[in-house]
Amino acid sequence: MRIIGKIKIKCKKCQKIHDICPEDIDDPEINSDERSMGYEIQYIWEHELICDRCNNNLKITLEGYEYPVGILNYQEFSSEGCSIIVEPSLEITNIDDEYEMD
Ligand SMILES: [Zn+2]
Repeated sequence: MRIIGKIKIKCKKCQKIHDICPEDIDDPEINSDERSMGYEIQYIWEHELICDRCNNNLKITLEGYEYPVGILNYQEFSSEGCSIIVEPSLEITNIDDEYEMD
């Protein structure tokens, strides 16, 4: 799974808008669980930054659930210190092409 599109967040303290590009975000933490229709794969991206105007700590967490494999079942975005004003899209990709699985 990958993130598509620029994310815009707004600092809750000073209201400054920050852009985050998908390329700036580290590889996700990946968990998988076996369920009735095969594996459910959970991706968690976390990204933190410091507001350059007010030094506030900003953090976003993006979660995507692929279940069954190949289908984006569910996504959830959360934030601390900021609000997400433009959300990214998540796109299913072939996991073998992108990440090493344990
Ligand atoms: Zn700020």
